[in-house]
Amino acid sequence: MEPDKRLPTQRHTIFQNSLMSALLDGIYDGEMTVGELLGHGNFGIGTFDALDGEMIVLDGVCYQVRGDGTAERADLMQRSPFTVMTNFVPLISATPPEGLRRSELAEFIDSVQPSENYMYAVRISGRFSDVTVRTVTRQDKPYRPMTEATGDDAELHFTDVDGVLGGFRTPVYEKGIGVPGCHVHFVDDARTSGGHVLDFTLARGTVELCPGTDLNLRLPLTTQFSDAELSPEDLDRQIHQTEVKD
Ligand SMILES: [Zn+2]
Repeated sequence: MEPDKRLPTQRHTIFQNSLMSALLDGIYDGEMTVGELLGHGNFGIGTFDALDGEMIVLDGVCYQVRGDGTAERADLMQRSPFTVMTNFVPLISATPPEGLRRSELAEFIDSVQPSENYMYAVRISGRFSDVTVRTVTRQDKPYRPMTEATGDDAELHFTDVDGVLGGFRTPVYEKGIGVPGCHVHFVDDARTSGGHVLDFTLARGTVELCPGTDLNLRLPLTTQFSDAELSPEDLDRQIHQTEVKD
């Protein structure tokens, strides 16, 4: 019998530490270390305690990208308030036409994924004509909500660079748990610079997808989390303002 192309070929678990809505509410200190997180996958994105930079995990190595766009290997004892991880299995691999912008590549990904109703780990590697990123910067207590904490983040632009975009494509029904749509971070092949991706053009490269069918959600056992406001009425606006920024 022919397999149904609308279905992922196998079950695959995505692990998540805390909620996007908790991050928006200023819950910037977590209880999980990088070492523990790597026990849940070799691939992922997130941030660090005190919102001290963007996290990207590739091939089991966790990188920290700071406000100036520089990346370095994170320490295994550093902690994270929000992380999405998985063991990346490139079950779907495709080569898009050259020179696609972010929005065009999103359409291309739609055309190769079985269904928008599943989660996807996304890895895009190759040559980028341009990548626009922003990076959160370390916050002091008392923590401000994320819309304020990210208000003055500088945008950085990289041009003609080889690197990897890694992250997740999340269904809209997960809004507040995660970031609906494509949420990806960038690190260059030298693993020395990157950030949270706002826009890019892929000159040439490969798109790999790992469909996720199961979500392992780990909520923090902290007073801050138990006291947080996790269903604000303007959730859409807050996510758009902090993650998309257009
Ligand atoms: Zn991000």
